[in-house]
Amino acid sequence: MAMARTMTLLLVAAALVVTSCGAWKVNIRMPTVAAMDDAMAPLIHALRPLLGSGRHAGVPCDSWRLGVEAYNVRDWKAVPASCEDYVGHYMLGSHYRRDSKVVIDQAIAYVDSLKLAGNGKEVWVFDVDETTVSNLPYYAKHGFGATPFNVTSFNAYAQEGSAPALPETRRLYNKLLSVGIKPVILTGRAEYLRASTATNLRRQGYSGWMTLLLKAPGFKGSSLAFKSSERQKLQDAGYIIVGNIGDQWSDILGAPEGARTFKLPDPMYYIG
Ligand SMILES: [Mg+2]
Repeated sequence: MAMARTMTLLLVAAALVVTSCGAWKVNIRMPTVAAMDDAMAPLIHALRPLLGSGRHAGVPCDSWRLGVEAYNVRDWKAVPASCEDYVGHYMLGSHYRRDSKVVIDQAIAYVDSLKLAGNGKEVWVFDVDETTVSNLPYYAKHGFGATPFNVTSFNAYAQEGSAPALPETRRLYNKLLSVGIKPVILTGRAEYLRASTATNLRRQGYSGWMTLLLKAPGFKGSSLAFKSSERQKLQDAGYIIVGNIGDQWSDILGAPEGARTFKLPDPMYYIG
């Protein structure tokens, strides 16, 4: 009798779940009354986000990173504390290098597809931090971005001029030189970091840039406004921006963006 009642309840429950919740929620597999709650539970409970902190509560770190790279997550101040290890492993392991290689492979394929005028007016805009050079030696000591950005300590590091090159970007840089496209270095770093930035770039195998543009003292606007206004000046001077690459969306948004833009990965910080 008890068995018959149990089976009846299961059949009724199964019918209710199928008709009221949609096929994706059907999860009946255990023929006991004790399993009824589990049988009724929609599958989405099993997929409930497990990681994250602060305003990103409940978001797994890989989903958070995708949101950042796709520019769906904006205006964030620091990597969620629970994602520090995730970002550290991503940056220091092979994943970051692999993702960067995909970007640069696409950029080089684009360069190969161009019909260049060869008139000396074709330029390519490069950002500096996390684009031509990597500040991982600094960020590895600062929680891979989980520690809020400190401009004083970062600028002290930048003044050392010791940041290693991002090898993939250097590959693109040299490709452009070989086909006569002039690199333009456009960075949000302050003007007083000009000498250390130039020294750093040369130490890391970058040379022959057309110009190095830094943020003038007293500039109060956003990085996006600064960079787009500098690109406008280039265009007004008759240059054709055939490409533009950076690790921040603020490097590649804002007219004139350039004929094509490329976004390198950077889950460590956000610059608007
Ligand atoms: Mg950058």
